Amino acid sequence: MAKVLQLNATIEAREDFSDELAIFKVRPDEPLPEGDWFVPGQYMVIGVNNTQEPELAGVQRPMSIASEPAQRNHVEFYIRRVGKPESKNPLTHSLFRLREGERVFLRPKPKGHFTIPGTVGQEDSRWRVFVSAGTGLAPFVSIARDDLTQGRPLNKTCIIHGASRPGDLGYRSELEALAEEHGLVYLPTVSRPADHPDWSGLQGRAEDRFLPDELALLEERMSLPTGTLGPENTVVLVCGLQGTIGESLVRLAKRGFVPAEKKIRKKLEIPEDLPGSFFFEQYDSEPVIDLENGALIEELKSDLGIE
Ligand SMILES: Cc1cc2nc3c(=O)[nH]c(=O)nc-3n(C[C@H](O)[C@H](O)[C@H](O)COP(=O)(O)OP(=O)(O)OC[C@H]3O[C@@H](n4cnc5c(N)ncnc54)[C@H](O)[C@@H]3O)c2cc1C
Repeated sequence: MAKVLQLNATIEAREDFSDELAIFKVRPDEPLPEGDWFVPGQYMVIGVNNTQEPELAGVQRPMSIASEPAQRNHVEFYIRRVGKPESKNPLTHSLFRLREGERVFLRPKPKGHFTIPGTVGQEDSRWRVFVSAGTGLAPFVSIARDDLTQGRPLNKTCIIHGASRPGDLGYRSELEALAEEHGLVYLPTVSRPADHPDWSGLQGRAEDRFLPDELALLEERMSLPTGTLGPENTVVLVCGLQGTIGESLVRLAKRGFVPAEKKIRKKLEIPEDLPGSFFFEQYDSEPVIDLENGALIEELKSDLGIE
């Protein structure tokens, strides 16, 4: 039986891109700790009570932090109201009913290892390609903001962000400014361009950047010679739903990118001394790839040169 949550934070501001997509800035009652109180890429658990059906009580879900540790006025989240929830008490439906000034629950301790230190390590000097569709962008916004604050260069960071329409490209102007002023390679891509004739940018899904015919363009934007994108010069981090992650994994295996995730490594019999160069954080629970699909497993093993 779900419990009624003791609310401990206030929605200080929200910025709506549509009825289903918004940035929430949440201020906890307790002041946020001094210093690096979380590692960019981590998430917090946010909760709300269902006021329309109070008998359902509270619901909590993890949400990636989009703000940076230096931001101590609030914690920022980039959230989609899911159209077809799986639970009877979906958090996003209750949350999207709340206005500025209304109250939520925020579990105080940030969690997660989908961070630069928790994946490739801060000292790694290769290109970082961050891939996301929709709200999966959040951890990468946090990482980029923190890099800027810490004085770390952004000129070997590439952010690929997919959305169905241009209006859903959250953080676009901020990322465009980072591209212009700090050398970030920012590649927004729109999957339903037919509805938006004014869109002259890249078309297709985020993971389509890794189709054989599209890789050259990515390499050009990263100033890499055609045909050379690979784990020698690049690491890839993907965040979001299964489709984006699975397709990116399969397409990039053809360039030798090695999944870091344990279960996949075990199934592919990846030797321990072959380091991961493909990391992901998943928002849904569909298997990223079908590990029981023998033909796919054999294809991936062959792509990665595993006997
Ligand atoms: C580590 C982690 C970080 C997360 N960070 C974010 C975040 O920053 N922003 C965010 O919007 N969500 C994020 N999520 C997803 C979030 O925790 C919830 O699963 C989501 O909000 C749905 O919850 P719900 O209770 O409304 O729906 P539920 O009834 O739990 O429905 C679950 C369904 O929602 C779908 N779903 C989950 N997340 C999304 C999404 N982002 N876009 C479209 N469909 C989705 C799933 O495919 C699943 O079918 C994160 C999940 C994890 C595990």
